[in-house]
Amino acid sequence: MNDARRRELRDRLLVLSVPLLAFGACLMLWRRLPASEAAFLGVLATLLAPWASVLLHRMLRGWREDAESRSVNRAAVQNAEDGMVMATAVRDRRGDAVDFDIVDCNARGAAFFGVARAELPGMRVSTLDQGACGAGLLDGCLRAMACGFDQEEREMPPGGRQRIAWIQRRIVRVGNSLSITLQDISERKAHEDALCRAANEDMLTALPNRHWLAQSAAGLLAQAERQGRVLPVLLVDLDEFKQVNDTHGHAAGDKVLEQTARRLKSLLRPGDVLVRFGGDEFVVLLGEDESDAHIGTVARRIVDALARPFSVGEQLHSVGASIGISVFPRDGRDPATLLRHADIAMYWAKDDGKGCFRFFDSLRYASIRGRAQLKQQLALALERNQLTLHFQPRVDLATGTLCSMEALLRWEHPEMGFVPPSDFIPLAEAGGLIHRIGDLVVDKACAQVAAWRANGLELVPVSINVSPRQFEQGGVHRMLAAQLALHKLSPRLIEVEITESAMMGEQKHILEQLAAIRKLGVKLHVDDFGSGYSSLSQLALLKMDVLKVDRSFTAGLERSPEGRVFYQAIVSMAHALGMAIVAEGVENEEQLRLVRELGCDEAQGYHLGRPAPAAEIARMLAPSSSPRMRGPLLNTQ
Ligand code: C2E
Ligand code: MG
Ligand code: MG
Repeated sequence: MNDARRRELRDRLLVLSVPLLAFGACLMLWRRLPASEAAFLGVLATLLAPWASVLLHRMLRGWREDAESRSVNRAAVQNAEDGMVMATAVRDRRGDAVDFDIVDCNARGAAFFGVARAELPGMRVSTLDQGACGAGLLDGCLRAMACGFDQEEREMPPGGRQRIAWIQRRIVRVGNSLSITLQDISERKAHEDALCRAANEDMLTALPNRHWLAQSAAGLLAQAERQGRVLPVLLVDLDEFKQVNDTHGHAAGDKVLEQTARRLKSLLRPGDVLVRFGGDEFVVLLGEDESDAHIGTVARRIVDALARPFSVGEQLHSVGASIGISVFPRDGRDPATLLRHADIAMYWAKDDGKGCFRFFDSLRYASIRGRAQLKQQLALALERNQLTLHFQPRVDLATGTLCSMEALLRWEHPEMGFVPPSDFIPLAEAGGLIHRIGDLVVDKACAQVAAWRANGLELVPVSINVSPRQFEQGGVHRMLAAQLALHKLSPRLIEVEITESAMMGEQKHILEQLAAIRKLGVKLHVDDFGSGYSSLSQLALLKMDVLKVDRSFTAGLERSPEGRVFYQAIVSMAHALGMAIVAEGVENEEQLRLVRELGCDEAQGYHLGRPAPAAEIARMLAPSSSPRMRGPLLNTQ
């Protein structure tokens, strides 16, 4: 028979003894009491005996189960890894739990509190509410008593006797008692830490990585805002890193990155943050309130440090770095904007020759954005044929008659209105649209001359402006020849203007194209002479037909005698070289008189006629208007 069966039999005997005892008591009373009272008590005892025996049976079973479950519990947790502590509530007069008596524990549970198993029962939780494991325990117990459950993870101070880094404390209410479980979760935490490090740390340099920055940047900005200070963001990009990787392999590249990280770390202070942003990009967040001058000093130090060659094995690698700087809150209030602006500034540094730093500048950025938008609009205008040509007359100074004109491009934007060529031509040159524009101008100019001819008008040569960039690509002479042939025009009806700067130096292929154009029978003009850096001696080397003196010289004629001397020198030398002279920018009668006196051949300017649409020019070309004009009469405005 096992123990449980034996205990069951014992309980049953105890329960059966209740009616027997009741019966015995009745017999004894029968003798002493009057018969009627004894009979009443006998009946009462007979009725109550079964009820009392059931009640007793239940009580016995409850006690037994309690004792059993406690001994099972203890047996289960006695040798467990987890600490187990049972405590019952100590209540004040109002019935509120104020403390807890420890009634039981296992050896591990006691060890967590640094005592032997026999010492813990009988102690109060409030006396344990200190030390690494007990700190905050009473509060946790009170919370569990109120809500039924409480759980906490606590980091243990380093160097503890048990070498536990982290514990987890779970408290469960059971009636008036609490079951406290203490678990060593150091291993799990270490694993979590390792995962977290792997996600937030760059493997190569052990620096925080881009993911870490994404998680932490908002907090760092909020902190700077609370402290009312700026937060400079420096985006450091190695200049020639790709070359190291490509020519010496990734292992060499890795070594350069490791050394870069070390050099950067050595330059920063403890409050600064250094992040490997990815590839050869690093981000530095300066931790103290800095003036632009001081930020610049730090950036310069970084540029200088990274300009020193990196030694990998036998090799020395010169890499260098460019830095873009944005400053919170001036250049952006959120991490994404600040990084974008630092990136833009970094590209400015690269554009300005690398190995330097640039601050983000909102005005420069707005102008660049404006230019980008204008460029988009210009591409649309080309698609939609919104560009037209106006023509500005030139007058023969000997006869006073219209002798030629210049085709000037006009862009009337539907919303922005008139956009001057000085705004959009440089944009087209930088943005690769100038070749399409150049083709369009030649096409339109030839078509217009052909249309005037078809209308029976008296034709004069029309000069077109050709950008130096068009010559760089080549083929200008072929395009001209094709257009002249298409519109069946004589080459003397189209002339080409090219600014003096385009002809500077020994640009062989440009000179060849100019020679080819001249060979077609098309005259060549040097435009805006005097505005660039070329000299008459340089001009002597080129075979040009017409020299257009820049309007700044014409304006200078009235101002000083030196202006006239200068002009005279230009006219004499150009004539000596066999070139005709056009005075540009003639704006009044006095200037007209002076340029005529100085021996200029032709004049162009607002005083003689502003650039005008083809229809207006057609009236001047009509045979009936002959003799066509005398100087100022040409003015079309
Ligand atoms: P540019 O070739 O020197 O053209 C002469 C410019 O001087 C024109 O300005 C004309 O309107 C202006 N002008 C003429 N007379 C006077 C005057 O008496 N006083 C003043 N203050 N200005 C005068 P616009 O039309 O604004 O053209 C500016 C520049 O844009 C041109 O200088 C030329 O370099 C460029 N450009 C214009 N059309 C074209 C084109 O079709 N192709 C290319 N590549 N460039 C063009
Ligand atoms: Mg011109
Ligand atoms: Mg000009």
